[in-house]
Amino acid sequence: MNPLTSRDLWERLSSEVRECSLCALSQTRKNAVAGEGPRSADIMFIGEAPGRREDSVGKPFIGSAGRILDAALSKAGIDRSGVFITNVVKCRPPNNRRPTSQERLACRRHLENQMLILSPKIICILGSTAYHSLLGGKSIIADRGKIVKRYGIRFFLTVHPASVIYNKSLLTDLENDMLSLAAEIRDDRRLDKKTTTTTRHNEKQPT
Ligand code: URA
Repeated sequence: MNPLTSRDLWERLSSEVRECSLCALSQTRKNAVAGEGPRSADIMFIGEAPGRREDSVGKPFIGSAGRILDAALSKAGIDRSGVFITNVVKCRPPNNRRPTSQERLACRRHLENQMLILSPKIICILGSTAYHSLLGGKSIIADRGKIVKRYGIRFFLTVHPASVIYNKSLLTDLENDMLSLAAEIRDDRRLDKKTTTTTRHNEKQPT
């Protein structure tokens, strides 16, 4: 029997999400939204839940919150097509209400599997639902811009792009945070490059 590749696991995970019926949101959704982006992404973004447009199309952050996120990413020089974007819950809660704790718990295995297989350099938490669900955090406004290390993973905290619609002053915070995130990932890549070069230098030459 051939061993499972990470691509097989990824595809299996996406189809598990598409067919999931672990909570009642599966009865009202049009599409479960597993997420979007390459498996090789260094950055993973986690929002709250799909909205109306995301539910009809099956992709995350493609409505008004998505446009705000896209603009902040592009201002910071982060290419959306190179990052992985998903949500705490994969199905739209009716009327875009906040997902309940039971719904978040039911969906947690999907998110944990995605984090495990993707193994990104950094996870960007978008807003208080993701902050509370993943890290037990209380105030994203107080903690935004910070990096928290938990379970051996680095989490970068920022506000939810939709919160900018109701509070315009948060736009500057979101944009500044995306700039810090971009700088953080640049430092990582520089360090990776240095390590590779040093390792190569130290490799024993064949005699
Ligand atoms: N808000 C979210 O949290 N996620 C989406 O995918 C869209 C809006």
